[in-house]
This record gives sequence, structure tokens and C-alpha cells, in this order.
Amino acid sequence: MFVDGCFWHRCPDHGVLPKHNAEWWEAKLAETVARDRRKDSALRECGWTVIHVWEHEDPADAADVIAAQWSAAVQRDVDPELA
Ligand SMILES: [Zn+2]
Repeated sequence: MFVDGCFWHRCPDHGVLPKHNAEWWEAKLAETVARDRRKDSALRECGWTVIHVWEHEDPADAADVIAAQWSAAVQRDVDPELA
């Protein structure tokens, strides 16, 4: 599980691009997001479940997401046909 910072990972609600050196920041932040996706793919290929939450999200909501993912994974273990 990753808690993504709104600035560095370009939250659609709070991600802003600095006005100073905007071109450099655009490339820098785009690469951060691209690296996130590459990392996610690599982890999934290794069998991990990848969950991202934004830093602005309510921790209780994030916990609900994790609990739902966990329940689904347990259910798949009990009944592999659900996978
Ligand atoms: Zn945000």
C-alpha cells in the first residue's frame, strides 16, 4: 500500500504545477507518475496487490479499501473460481 503525496504524485484534486521552472517540474512529476505505474506493474507481476491512497484521503476510508481487498483475497483463496 502506498500513500501518495498530492504534489509529487499529481493528485487530480490537489496536484499543482509550480509556475517557476514549470517545464522542468512538468517533466519531473510526469516521470514520478510513470515510475509509479512501472513499479505497480512489476509488483503485480510478482503477485502483489497494489493499493494507492492519496494523502488527502480519510484514513478510515483507506482502511476500508484495504479491508475490502483483503476480504476479496481471502474469498479467492477459499473459492479460487471467484478469482
Ligand atoms: Zn489530493
